[in-house]
Amino acid sequence: RVKVPLRIKIFMWFVHKQVILTKDNLLRRRWVGSSRCCYCDQDETIQHLFLDCPLAKLLWRSVHVAFNVSPPNSIETLFGTWLD
Ligand SMILES: [Zn+2]
Repeated sequence: RVKVPLRIKIFMWFVHKQVILTKDNLLRRRWVGSSRCCYCDQDETIQHLFLDCPLAKLLWRSVHVAFNVSPPNSIETLFGTWLD
């Protein structure tokens, strides 16, 4: 089993926290009505949440600068990287 670098663990913590915040937001809305992102005004999808959202892009830039981890090209790349 390949050891996960600390920077990836830290990054995953950031993502995890973001997902929790999103779920919390969805629960507060009782899963009905708008499916808008809670950080901007676009539709909230996994793709959006991790890649397309301005917040995600900001997060990736921060991660890139802080940990030298390149932003993924797609959600498959992102999760593929994690599962390696
Ligand atoms: Zn968004």
